[in-house]
Amino acid sequence: MTYVIEPTPRVSIPVTHGGGLFPVNNIYCVGRNYAEHAIEMGADPDRELPFFFMKPGYAVLTGGVDMIYPNHSKDVHHEVELVVALAKGGSDISVADAMTLVFGYGVGVDMTRRDLQGEAKEDRRPWEAGKTFRHAAPCSDLVPIAESNEINSGAISLSINGQVRQSGDINQMIWKVPEVISRLSELFFLQPGDLIFTGTPAGVGPVHRGDLINASIVDVISLSFRIGSS
Ligand code: MN
Repeated sequence: MTYVIEPTPRVSIPVTHGGGLFPVNNIYCVGRNYAEHAIEMGADPDRELPFFFMKPGYAVLTGGVDMIYPNHSKDVHHEVELVVALAKGGSDISVADAMTLVFGYGVGVDMTRRDLQGEAKEDRRPWEAGKTFRHAAPCSDLVPIAESNEINSGAISLSINGQVRQSGDINQMIWKVPEVISRLSELFFLQPGDLIFTGTPAGVGPVHRGDLINASIVDVISLSFRIGSS
């Protein structure tokens, strides 16, 4: 049997040093995983279990292409995050086994239409309109874990036009990467190609047309792109 329509092409992310292409499947995102960010969003960091939302593969932006500023928003925010890319999937993975699923790491930005997210929260509706749009998930090239080793600490930051806006350390994550993977695997059907955006440190704020965004995990990987001016 053949497809009755042409399948949508698979989104992919380059691996560093000409290491090939990583095919993107589903994108999971962790909410409020740094205490200072939970506080700035009005939440109590001590009482929250990790919670998750998703973005579609088409949200990924790679390769230095300008990000299209999404419509229906006047308040698009940056959230710089460590991205974990999975080579393997599975269900009910233990914390001890979780790192065996990992292909590598990147740095990404969980772009958010904060005004639409705020309306959704107020109306007790889902967040998709806030979190999902084309280019809602800019992501760097991926570094294989064989090169980077496990990343449990290190500076993560984001600057706009050369000014630092977010600066944190990966060791401030409330739920560590193996715990996040294990919990995701209990709730969902993890598959090879899945990406996990692991939460943002404090300092989120708006981006504007024409801005140059630089995101980095120091000594590991960085990402630069511009917000398109049209
Ligand atoms: Mn986020």
